[in-house]
Amino acid sequence: MEAVKNRCCKKVYTGNWLSHQCSRKGVVCREGKYYCNQHDPIRITKENRKKEEAWRKRHDEQSAEFERTRILLGLAKGIPTEELELYELILIGA
Ligand SMILES: [Zn+2]
Repeated sequence: MEAVKNRCCKKVYTGNWLSHQCSRKGVVCREGKYYCNQHDPIRITKENRKKEEAWRKRHDEQSAEFERTRILLGLAKGIPTEELELYELILIGA
């Protein structure tokens, strides 16, 4: 196996407190250190931000849905079930 030039500097944990240096070739240089595509800190930061945004979006959508349900339940208080079922049929256009 030929020596990998500019090897990724990232330590990879294998469990039981053991770690070894990533064996992949460094493809990007960040502050003088080489990283493979998987361990590129900038890519990881971007990825995390994307995940966070997706999570936040989903959370907001769910919150809106919960709020809608909460309001509907509040409005529905005291209305007989048969009547609610009728409204539901009207609302869904049945
Ligand atoms: Zn790596």
